Amino acid sequence: MIPYGRQEITQADIDAVVSVLKSDFLTQGPQVPRFEQAVAAHVGAKYALAVNSATSALHIACLSLGLGEGDWLWTSPITFVASANCGLYCGAQVDFVDIDPRTYNLCPKALAAKLEQAETERRLPKVVVAVHLCGQSCDMQEISVLSQRYGFRLIEDASHAIGGKYQGEFIGSGRYSDVTVFSFHPVKIITTAEGGIAVTNNDKLASRMNLLRSHGVTRDLNLMTHESDGPWYYQQVELGYNYRMTELQAALGISQMGRLVAFVARRHELAKRYDELLKDLPVTTPCQHPDSYSGLHLYVIRLKLDAINKKHRQVFESLREQGIIVNLHYIPVHIQPYYQEMGFEPEAFPQAMQYYREAISLPMFQGLTDEQQDDVVQALKIALEVGSYL
Ligand SMILES: *Cc1c(COP(=O)(O)O)cnc(C)c1O
Repeated sequence: MIPYGRQEITQADIDAVVSVLKSDFLTQGPQVPRFEQAVAAHVGAKYALAVNSATSALHIACLSLGLGEGDWLWTSPITFVASANCGLYCGAQVDFVDIDPRTYNLCPKALAAKLEQAETERRLPKVVVAVHLCGQSCDMQEISVLSQRYGFRLIEDASHAIGGKYQGEFIGSGRYSDVTVFSFHPVKIITTAEGGIAVTNNDKLASRMNLLRSHGVTRDLNLMTHESDGPWYYQQVELGYNYRMTELQAALGISQMGRLVAFVARRHELAKRYDELLKDLPVTTPCQHPDSYSGLHLYVIRLKLDAINKKHRQVFESLREQGIIVNLHYIPVHIQPYYQEMGFEPEAFPQAMQYYREAISLPMFQGLTDEQQDDVVQALKIALEVGSYL
């Protein structure tokens, strides 16, 4: 069986975690700040706040930007549900912007059109979550021009994209956005088991997210409303959560960060091989924008359904029956039952729906061997019944 994604754990990773287990701190010790520094330094951000998941990072990012009741958050329908749910957690309403049919990322033209309409209806978004699908950056320059014109704040959901670049700078540098979020779930590029991080260059947002991830409680005199009662003193100055990352997770993260560049490079080798091996098959391979160096979390193909005698589902099932555990990223969020209750028309986002009818995520992870990749391609040829290519 070949999964679509899988972590790589070395002896060094295991040793790093074991040494934390034998140390004084299992949480709130020195590993979390070290991990934060490693990520901030790598991506070129001023601050990094490690938390227990990217979902938590999205939540505190939205809160730190002041998202609340009566506000709107917009994102792409082709994403994991967490990119939209973070708006609902804050009491805001959620809406979607259709995808670019080539990159499958939120389409800046569709965004511009929707903003123009929303302005006349006085329901402009407060926050837009730009999701870097598969690890390829959205057109952030274009989106940030719109954010200045219409006054919304920008979060990059870069759960797929650590180690990727946009216009030659690492994703997370914050040139075009307020906050960038990465995920360290085991299927992502590097892992801390569960875990996520929010990076920003903004002092106020960093300080706010720091409070929110730990109960809204502070020991910093500057953040207190009045003088300390004594050395035991702490103050709760807002309503926060316990979203902290543990020391074990951070130690694993530090160890994994050391291999990030190699992981992404290997993913690029694999993508290049797929591009070549699939070029005569009736599938569309991923389009890479010249501004982008993708983190390549996913390698998504789209079936040319007009050119094959198979249904999308049959191809998917055949691959799974052959032990290739492909996946589909993603079911459009707006057609999830929970979102359907809010009244979204499925065909309101036609590019997202068309993508959903054709997309398959092939195995893509650093430990995938060339031989396994050849097996994936062979299985795909069988699934597509392209006899002449066998
Ligand atoms: C994985 C993922 C998340 C959530 O990450 P967790 O760390 O599992 O909470 C959010 N957005 C996208 C696009 C993801 O792929």
